[in-house]
Amino acid sequence: MMSDQWSFETKQIHAGQTPDPTTGARALPIYQTTSFQFRDTDHAAALFSLAEPGNIYTRIINPTQGVVEERLAALEGGVGALLFASGQAATTGALTNVAEAGDHIVASSSLYGGTDSLLRHSFPKLGIAVSFVADPNDPEQWRAATKANTKAYFGETIGNPKGDILDLAAVSAVAKEVGVPFIVDNTIATPYLLNPLKHGADTVVHSATKYIGGHGTTIAGVVIDGGTFDYGAHGDKFPGFTEPDASYHGLQYAAALGPAAYIAKLRVQYLRNIGAAISPFSAFLLAQGLETLSLRVERHIANTRRVAEWLEAREDVSTVTWASLDSSPYKSLADTYVPQGAGAVLTFELPGGLEAGKAFIDSLELFSHVANIGDVRSLAIHPASTTHSQLSAEEQAATGVTPGLVRLAVGLEGIDDILADLDAGFRAAK
Ligand SMILES: *Cc1c(COP(=O)(O)O)cnc(C)c1O
Repeated sequence: MMSDQWSFETKQIHAGQTPDPTTGARALPIYQTTSFQFRDTDHAAALFSLAEPGNIYTRIINPTQGVVEERLAALEGGVGALLFASGQAATTGALTNVAEAGDHIVASSSLYGGTDSLLRHSFPKLGIAVSFVADPNDPEQWRAATKANTKAYFGETIGNPKGDILDLAAVSAVAKEVGVPFIVDNTIATPYLLNPLKHGADTVVHSATKYIGGHGTTIAGVVIDGGTFDYGAHGDKFPGFTEPDASYHGLQYAAALGPAAYIAKLRVQYLRNIGAAISPFSAFLLAQGLETLSLRVERHIANTRRVAEWLEAREDVSTVTWASLDSSPYKSLADTYVPQGAGAVLTFELPGGLEAGKAFIDSLELFSHVANIGDVRSLAIHPASTTHSQLSAEEQAATGVTPGLVRLAVGLEGIDDILADLDAGFRAAK
């Protein structure tokens, strides 16, 4: 019954779901089961060979997960989606679905700390080399970093914590020219503010832990594919898609599945073999969050705009980075890609540096001091001593982290209470 014509607000409530066929349950049932009984041996054989779609085992497929996957694919405008146990598992899956040992990836340098560490330290141990582009909005730097064995471009649509906006059209033009998929992390923007697939990205990753779940309860990730990159049309460059998969009945993904090849391979090869599966209960919590995504993001943005303008007007703040401020170097990119507002994460710099930053954080009462974003609660952290502490000073600088930098993830509380708490922080930092 789903309609492509539905508005975002309708899709976030209805896409992918009809009342439960067995019980009539209207809300999404939690199919908390590891496995599903086959009708007979022929049915089992048909499911295993992918001749017939159906449930087998919850590591690979589950009806609760399936609804959330279909809904997220609808909200991003993709052809398919796959949930994972975390955003990190989703990013690892999205990239190793196309790159293997001996291959190379080009990535933006403005990345979430965990993703930077994954690409900088873990991928080389798997034999996958990564080059980081110093200025991700200079398409020539992506071109110059590309090698014969480059298999993907990767960046964040809104960098965490730098708050820069990636010029998707410019980077995707180079990706198309050199023949690699363009994979982006859209966590901070959310599918409500930005659909990267409409701007030339081929695949979207989210840490669903953040705004999709939205309530600080659930670690989860998702990969959504646009079906736009034809892995069968690049000779032997993507053998994982064109050669028979020995672990799956000799399946040749690109030829057999066309635009559905990317998610199918990710599911039956990567997720099945590596096993970073989400639980049905976590998927249910994501569905609860999704139903109000647009409403929450609108309020997150309204509160963030007030906080950003209030901070900018203060004399005891040296810089505020929120791309939708007129003073931001990313304002015009923000107007192009996220016209409603550049997400609800912002950073500011206290002139007093490290000590002022710590005093500020320690005095907050309404804001929670946690390593998270995308909660209904307002959150604050000092990246240099926490999320980005594994990086060298130069690496910190490249990701936009300075000693006095404070990152806020503005929540949904009353704006006057939010501002009063921040005001107390500034008195303590003096
Ligand atoms: C949190 C985050 C991740 C990692 O997601 P987890 O769910 O914590 O594994 C990846 N990218 C961005 C932008 C994030 O904020």
